[in-house]
Amino acid sequence: MTVLLASLLLASVPTVAPSTPTAPRVAGNNVALARGLETIAVNEISADIHYIASDEMGGRDTVSEEQRIAARFIKNRLVRLGFTPGNGEKFLYEYPLAMKALDPASLSASVDGTAALAYGSDYTFTDSFGAAALTTDGGLVFCGTGERDDFDAEALPGSWAVCSYSDQNIYRLRSRARKAGAVGLVLVPAADADLIADFAERDDAAFAGSVSWPSTGGSRSRAPFPVIAVSAATSAALGVTAESTIGADLGHSLAESRDLKGGGEVMAENVCGFWPGSDPELSKEVLIVSAHYDHVGTRNGKVYNGADDNGSGTSGLLALAEGLKEYGPMRRSVLLIWVSGEEKGLWGSKAWAQNPSLPEGYRPVANLNMDMIGRNAPNVLYVTPSEKHSGYNGLTNLAERFAIEEGFGDFPEAREQGFEGLGSADVYYGRSDHAEFAKLDIPVCFLFAGEHEDYHKDTDTPDKIDCDKIRRVSRTILKLLDALQTDTLDL
Ligand SMILES: [Zn+2]
Repeated sequence: MTVLLASLLLASVPTVAPSTPTAPRVAGNNVALARGLETIAVNEISADIHYIASDEMGGRDTVSEEQRIAARFIKNRLVRLGFTPGNGEKFLYEYPLAMKALDPASLSASVDGTAALAYGSDYTFTDSFGAAALTTDGGLVFCGTGERDDFDAEALPGSWAVCSYSDQNIYRLRSRARKAGAVGLVLVPAADADLIADFAERDDAAFAGSVSWPSTGGSRSRAPFPVIAVSAATSAALGVTAESTIGADLGHSLAESRDLKGGGEVMAENVCGFWPGSDPELSKEVLIVSAHYDHVGTRNGKVYNGADDNGSGTSGLLALAEGLKEYGPMRRSVLLIWVSGEEKGLWGSKAWAQNPSLPEGYRPVANLNMDMIGRNAPNVLYVTPSEKHSGYNGLTNLAERFAIEEGFGDFPEAREQGFEGLGSADVYYGRSDHAEFAKLDIPVCFLFAGEHEDYHKDTDTPDKIDCDKIRRVSRTILKLLDALQTDTLDL
């Protein structure tokens, strides 16, 4: 289906059935294009992908130190090539994520308002429920071993429930204590048990934390409820003895608090470089080219390099930046955007599409996206939305033409670059960032070289990448951008 851009929408436009690729419509500047294509070089792509997908990059998890380093590497390249910042004054586009990770420096606990307890020796957390911002203060009521009838709903409200613990089900104790109105649950060791040692590893998850797309409120999860386990010495300080009876007020109080790192929020980064157009009017129409630079990080000590996914698109987009520099300004503006969070749910592109960073009066008009373009047979390339997809558009149609085109205009030396034809990647339509850019109501086009046995494994390494393939995809995109410089865009 032909999609018209909003700016060009006419009162009534006949729907035209998809056709076979049309005759070449050379719109741009052949000399500039030849120069741009020529500069896209295999050795540069190879150098970039070996850096981006190195073990030292740790798999570029969202959010990680290594990912921030990768972002600054990309930004530095954009600065050197003469791009302007793609987000106001900044090349980095930050967006907030929810982070649940305990801040070790925030922990405090004390008995009777004075005797401070040390985390890790006097008390500990029992599981990932520890990851919450909580301040809890109350008296202490003994609840035996935590049988159903041990929780005294008269005595407990406003106090901690204290249970003698060996190996009962903590979730059950927690639920009973909460129901009875306790402010929290304290597990004291039964007999010779050493709860500090027993729980030493289980609290790791609370400190390692996890990031998520910020909830829009109305969370259905129940409010956090503190559960702590204590040492035998702390148990004695809280007044627990062999004679403590169920329902007894232990005669002491316990205050405990903890907070999340960064107040529960962390900023993730996209990197955006703007290539301003030369035409006073057309420059306000922005062609977006995207690739995600994140991957899935390091798991069980193994680095998931993500060379193809998506070091390939990341380095391909860097190569395109080189091509644009040689080309010079196009009539329309181009925004190159490396997004993060793709692997976790297209977060970086979602954040940008919800809040685009373009100069006042500028608007996005198309998105070309590259993800996994460096593997499989040299002539195999896939595209979506294909002719069979409801989102099929003129952009895909052009991609089909330029991917197979052997040369152009008066530049026969540009022959030898084609692919054999584009297969359909429609089954992957929802699985990369163009799907979020499509929500801006613009035509999108996704280029992809197919899955392989190393997909999302620690074996997706740079030595397996066909850098010449990346070069040819980048060239295809530069040719496409050049063709998108016509007076009107009818995609
Ligand atoms: Zn992936």
